[in-house]
Amino acid sequence: MKKNQSENYDCKDFLTSGFKAAANKSDVTLAFVSLRIALSAYFSTYKQLRDYKGRNPNDICNNLKYYELYTETIIHFQHFFELLIKDVLRSENELFAAKIGKAHGSSFEALVSVTKGLSISQTVLDNLFSIEFDEALKRLKHIIIVDTQKRKIQHAILSGKNEIETLTSLRNKTWHRGAYFLSLAQLDSFICKSILPVIIRIQKTNYYKNMIHYIPNTQKSDINVILELISCHKNGKHLNTSKISLLKEIGRSTYASPFSNYYKAIKKEKKSKPKVLLIQGKPARFSKASAWLRLFPDRDGEYSAKAIAGEKQSHVTECPVCGQKSLLVLLEWSDYEEGNYSYVPEVECKTCTFNIHSDINLSRKPYKIPNYFK
Ligand SMILES: [Zn+2]
Repeated sequence: MKKNQSENYDCKDFLTSGFKAAANKSDVTLAFVSLRIALSAYFSTYKQLRDYKGRNPNDICNNLKYYELYTETIIHFQHFFELLIKDVLRSENELFAAKIGKAHGSSFEALVSVTKGLSISQTVLDNLFSIEFDEALKRLKHIIIVDTQKRKIQHAILSGKNEIETLTSLRNKTWHRGAYFLSLAQLDSFICKSILPVIIRIQKTNYYKNMIHYIPNTQKSDINVILELISCHKNGKHLNTSKISLLKEIGRSTYASPFSNYYKAIKKEKKSKPKVLLIQGKPARFSKASAWLRLFPDRDGEYSAKAIAGEKQSHVTECPVCGQKSLLVLLEWSDYEEGNYSYVPEVECKTCTFNIHSDINLSRKPYKIPNYFK
């Protein structure tokens, strides 16, 4: 980028002045980033949309927040599969995921090198355009892979061929042809019955070791959110929407937890301890919850929860997701003519942000979660 030469500014400079991700295989890293964004957006459909519940069941889907979460979910799941397919192709041969043979440029140079038996320069490889998704899926189906581990991942992806093709059509309908959405119930059904099982089969091959950092893991209990969501949608089962909402919120807050696999991986990457604010040589302590929230939005939830509980006559207990004693059980008072009574409208963890309202049925203590709302 040319500095101090605004008159010579060319937006195309941005194409060459950026940087590549630090990881060895940046496209695979990006695939898992997409997986995390997709899962996170899908899990958020409970918390972000519950205020839209109205008399009409469509209220919850006919709003900008739903359009945003739906689009993020569909586009990023599709992106995840597309990058993974191309990675498997490239791991066999860099050219298997590339467009080759155009009349000029890197594409033609690659063709010349291949036909003459010459090695292809990195510059040429970097400048090759990737093939379209449909073509990549066809090639993955037809290549013969010798390596056993790699063949397993090939089979795992192809086991979801129809599902991934449908996902791509949904992506195209939303992305290219204007607004087309599934209802929230349809989205639940599609993601849990069609997409999550393919992700589990891919994970089981253990081909991508880093994948574990991008799958939600709870600290307190061993709830496998993805397997449980699949189980809720098994054929013939009566759908328990309250349980599905609870699982989505566990998944969402697990991602937000500072103790998740993902944050552990980030910490390892940084190789340094998080800085603690010192006041007169001692770690800072504040009685006001707002001060804590501002300074430590996630790591010191116990302090902020206790501070708020003290102010609001509520109590704090252990969070079923992150295991910290920072779950604020909010108490409210109602003064009807029949007399005052207290009730718990919601619980919220100040560490991992787990937040459910009393619309979630905990009477049967699902996953051993106590009934805060009785
Ligand atoms: Zn928590």
